[in-house]
Amino acid sequence: MYDTLIRGGRVIDPLHGVDALLDVAIQGERVAAVGANLSPQSARQVLDATGLLVTPGLIDLHVHVHWGVSHYGIEADQCCLARGVTTALEAGSAGAYTYPSLKRWIMDASQTEVYALLNIAYLGMIGDQVGELEDARFIDEALAERVAQAPEILGIKARMDRVGPLKATEPLARALAVADRVDKPLMVHIGSARRMGVPLEAVLAQLRPGDVVTHCYHGKDGNILDAEGAVRPAVRQARQRGVLFDVGHGAGSFAWATVRRALAQGLPPDTISSDLHTYSLLSPAVDLATTMTKFLHLGMPLADVIRAATAAPAAWMGMSASVGHLGPGAAADVTLLRLEEGRFDLCDCEGVVETASRRLAPVTALKRGRLFGLGPASSLGLLTL
Ligand SMILES: [Zn+2]
Repeated sequence: MYDTLIRGGRVIDPLHGVDALLDVAIQGERVAAVGANLSPQSARQVLDATGLLVTPGLIDLHVHVHWGVSHYGIEADQCCLARGVTTALEAGSAGAYTYPSLKRWIMDASQTEVYALLNIAYLGMIGDQVGELEDARFIDEALAERVAQAPEILGIKARMDRVGPLKATEPLARALAVADRVDKPLMVHIGSARRMGVPLEAVLAQLRPGDVVTHCYHGKDGNILDAEGAVRPAVRQARQRGVLFDVGHGAGSFAWATVRRALAQGLPPDTISSDLHTYSLLSPAVDLATTMTKFLHLGMPLADVIRAATAAPAAWMGMSASVGHLGPGAAADVTLLRLEEGRFDLCDCEGVVETASRRLAPVTALKRGRLFGLGPASSLGLLTL
């Protein structure tokens, strides 16, 4: 007897090359079976997913959910799980001194599964008045190294923005030294060349295979495109070396013009993430599904869009065995989405609005087999007993 059967949806599981009308059976906290016409009598609870997409639980590789501590912090469950994101990576709101509060009050207390990147600056991202890397005294490598040993900390975060007199290369080198010592990857936030104090090439040159560049499609000066709009050679070289490129939409890091040119030149994102925070939540990022919708609008195939928010981030997190796909034995993290047709205005970070004809809208999600949603399951009209 299964606990839950999700019936009749279009199951898209890019890791296994699945895109078909199938049923998903869940036993306890795991996927038990995926197949055609599994018997509804075999389950205690049946969810009717007719007309919906059924995907692995979405994974957002870049969010800020250190609510109450960082000015960027939003509420994890409202903004992640209620919008179809079952696993999220807190991308450096907390530094060594503020991490314990993130762990106890957010990560341990949320239904969304939250992992963290540790900000190389021990204050993390408390306020906006001073950039956390403007003063080298905020970097304490030994302290960061000690805290970053925690298994739920998946890597180090360094924001190359407002680095002041340090210039990006120095704090980045110190962050990479800590990442080396704890044997974990680094995610680097790239900003304008002016705010980094050095050109993008100088940042990329330091990165190791497995490190991630987030905000890869920002439209500010010194972005991944040169003055003619061509992808900079250093960007291609970094990708060839195994550096990953993550969207990190946020409030300032998604420009239609940059993305469109990059896609046309064969530079799709490795991972699609929202960089959801206080200033991007209402607009322009909205949520991960909206960020994914923008790539659908730009012509990226649906399965590739879903892969970039499921299997791809799971692989980078070293968690492919449990999340990011719907193979038997995987965690029963499942997202139900509606692929809507109509006219949908989508705004980038430069204030440019484009109108899409399709939209991915989150309906509900199961986290480890438990239904979580925008409302009670009965009001969604999904639950048939
Ligand atoms: Zn961010």
